[in-house]
Amino acid sequence: MDDYDPNSMPAAKARQFIKQFLSPVMETEHLSIRESLGRVLAADILSPSNVPNYDNSAMDGYAFNADDINLEKSTVLKVIGTAFAGKAFDGEVKPGECVRIMTGGMMPRGTDTVIVQERVTLTGDQINFSEVPKRKMNVRYAGEDLQQGQMVLGAGHMIRAADLGLIASLGIGKVSVYRKLKVAFFSTGDELASVGETLNTGQVYDSNRYTLYGMLSRLGVEIIDLGAIADDAELLESTLLKAAEQADVVITSGGVSVGEADYMKLLLAKHGQVVFWKIAMKPGRPLAYGKVQGSKIKASHYFGLPGNPVAVMVTFYQFVREAMLMLMGQASPAPLPIFNVVCTENIKKQTGRTEYQRGILFNDTDGAWKVKPTGAQGSAILSSMSLANCFIVLNESIGNLEAGTIVQVQVLDGIV
Ligand code: AMP
Ligand code: MG
Repeated sequence: MDDYDPNSMPAAKARQFIKQFLSPVMETEHLSIRESLGRVLAADILSPSNVPNYDNSAMDGYAFNADDINLEKSTVLKVIGTAFAGKAFDGEVKPGECVRIMTGGMMPRGTDTVIVQERVTLTGDQINFSEVPKRKMNVRYAGEDLQQGQMVLGAGHMIRAADLGLIASLGIGKVSVYRKLKVAFFSTGDELASVGETLNTGQVYDSNRYTLYGMLSRLGVEIIDLGAIADDAELLESTLLKAAEQADVVITSGGVSVGEADYMKLLLAKHGQVVFWKIAMKPGRPLAYGKVQGSKIKASHYFGLPGNPVAVMVTFYQFVREAMLMLMGQASPAPLPIFNVVCTENIKKQTGRTEYQRGILFNDTDGAWKVKPTGAQGSAILSSMSLANCFIVLNESIGNLEAGTIVQVQVLDGIV
């Protein structure tokens, strides 16, 4: 990178840098439709037939041939039978005749148009209507949704609820997807106690492994939790190597601050190729990315996240999430959407860095959606993440803002 400066790395540039090293998993699996939810397609899905498979009625009404419409006087047709969805009318409809038809019922031979039942008068076995419907009105044509052979979903697409139904609608029972990405992670720090242990003075409970567990679970990867590891060179080394042996991606939190005499840096120099950045952002200043070589042939991707709990979540959403999606097989994952909304409170902000302040999007009394900050914005205040439903993204050039200013927000709910 031309103007690569590890001490003031813009967030967008770091993201770009990471992208060039991300080659997706190659191994595939053949899974039943339901099992494929959240997986990434490894092969295109083509429509094996037309959808719908046959011409059918879009309404409850009467099927007839548009040639029978009487343009001068009202049209009178004889009802000769009924076509139900799933139970077709067998015969042929001749001039002057029609068939009562239900939604989804197959269009009988000799008909091409449906008039809805509310628009006709039924007397005995005859219908009468003065309206002049257009030919093909209220008919869903074979192949109207999908043509036989048409690409329905492309390789690289992540399967969501609608896709499960779409695949089922084609009669396809199994799909080819990439295998799950394996992600190993551990926390580092002498001060960390694990849930279940007594907290001594000077200790904090390890929360990063829990937020990471949550965020990774929502991405649908295979999780390997290697625990909270003290700042001990040997322990850290053996854990790092264990992680690299087992996983495609290794994530650590804590111990990557630039300038710190941390064991992690020495270890990563010994077992991999890792760059350390001070990202021009808050929270999430120190960040490391690279490859770690375990005993397996292929090196693992490595993300060294900051230790502060909010910084872990912010860097995960801003860097790790997208990288993971690419490694899972999505060629160009959709970026998290950003919206402009009015902020109802003053905001304190330093220029020269991107800030991801925690915000609450709310429906104001005037019916418009607006945002307000959650309160104190310290990188250690994890409750701010629990309160928040969005990030207020404030770019480098932005300084302090007055209430009423339009700001950018990135919605958090449902993003991974
Ligand atoms: P570090 O990046 O290791 O200097 O850590 C920065 C701050 O984050 C320190 O206050 C740590 O105590 C805190 N921290 C590091 N790891 C964790 C963790 N797993 N859970 C909660 N806090 C942590
Ligand atoms: Mg530490």
